[in-house]
Amino acid sequence: MTAPAPLPPAPARVLVLNSGSSSLKYQLLDPRAGVRLAQGLVERIGERSSRLKHTPEGGESREHIGPIPDHDAALKAVATELDRDGLGLDSPELAAIGHRVVHGGMSFTEPTVIDDAVLAEIERLIPVAPLHNPANLTGIRTARALRPDLPQVAVFDTAFHTTMPESAARYALDLGTADRYRIRRYGFHGTSHAYVSRATAALLGRAPEEVNVIVLHLGNGASASAVRGGRCVDTSMGLTPLEGLVMGTRSGDLDPAVIFHLMRVGEMSADEIDTLLNKRSGLIGLCGDNDMREIRRRVDEGDPAARLAFDIYIHRLKKYIGAYYAVLGRVDALAFTAGVGENAAPVREAATAGLEGLGIAVDAGLNAVRADGARLISPGSARVAVAVVPTDEELEIATQTYALVAERDSEKN
Ligand code: ADP
Repeated sequence: MTAPAPLPPAPARVLVLNSGSSSLKYQLLDPRAGVRLAQGLVERIGERSSRLKHTPEGGESREHIGPIPDHDAALKAVATELDRDGLGLDSPELAAIGHRVVHGGMSFTEPTVIDDAVLAEIERLIPVAPLHNPANLTGIRTARALRPDLPQVAVFDTAFHTTMPESAARYALDLGTADRYRIRRYGFHGTSHAYVSRATAALLGRAPEEVNVIVLHLGNGASASAVRGGRCVDTSMGLTPLEGLVMGTRSGDLDPAVIFHLMRVGEMSADEIDTLLNKRSGLIGLCGDNDMREIRRRVDEGDPAARLAFDIYIHRLKKYIGAYYAVLGRVDALAFTAGVGENAAPVREAATAGLEGLGIAVDAGLNAVRADGARLISPGSARVAVAVVPTDEELEIATQTYALVAERDSEKN
């Protein structure tokens, strides 16, 4: 008797797409194994000098410069590169495409399989995310056109924050006006906050439901969140990513009257103020640099503008740590993540200095160690664990996408 032919491997790869207005970032992952197979970026789409950089895992990067007129051409160019590595988009091993979608409003609390109704709802949310959602929609439409047979899943930056109670999610604004214009605090970086809060619980060897974590996502954009038992109860970004911490180029919190003042006294338009607060404020506005490495180098040389920028950045961060401590009541861990949080030991040291009374302390030796994985930097005796937890938004999107598709398939069978 001949043995039955082995079944083909179940499709387990997920292509994660993060589509910007003139860019397309992508990663191909196997979320079950937690493995990345390839990643890349197409920039300056629509210009003559578009650039595609593709890197197969463990291999040499390949770069192409030349016109890529639109997202459709960009995704086809990506598919060609993946093909060259034997990872083509027509492979039966590809299970789904996962899309990062910035704004899911109140409509989307979970990753969602995309159909025409979902597309229409993401479109309806454009007024609250005018920069991001149109670009995300372009990515989705392009991918659907290329692989109409494949499940496409939207994973929303806002979804993790939809568990915030009304007391945290509402501004103290006239209710009618707020509802009419859908003004509330949505929060962003949710995929990262979800991943890091879970990974922090794992680092402590505990279930996410048991621990309260303050997550500090400090990249070029930055946000803090208070996570109680795996559910977000507050976060620092609001209607848009402008609220909260001092960021690379964004002001974060300020008195809203600054805006009327700039309009009335500075005679600036809404668009000019938008650009000022989103692109020319924060660290870059304060000292001309938004890269924390450069700022620290200047601080060490005694540069007063860099010192002031650093001090304002740290002061705001401390205020949020204190606020979220009070919101949570009991804090088990403080987790630093993203470019600054994972790499800038002086930021971690300064943000936690003087917080011993709250049970928060950092061990100077552990803080100085440069390492890749999640790690504790607090002394063993500290009441609150302080951790450095590298974020991986693409892996989280792939994991959520795969879980949803696998669940759907098992329901069908
Ligand atoms: P985003 O995804 O928001 O663009 P990242 O999470 O990649 O940002 O973080 C980028 C920022 O991380 C840089 O602007 C820089 O300030 C900071 N950064 C990266 N590496 C280091 C480092 N070794 N030391 C200090 N800051 C760093």
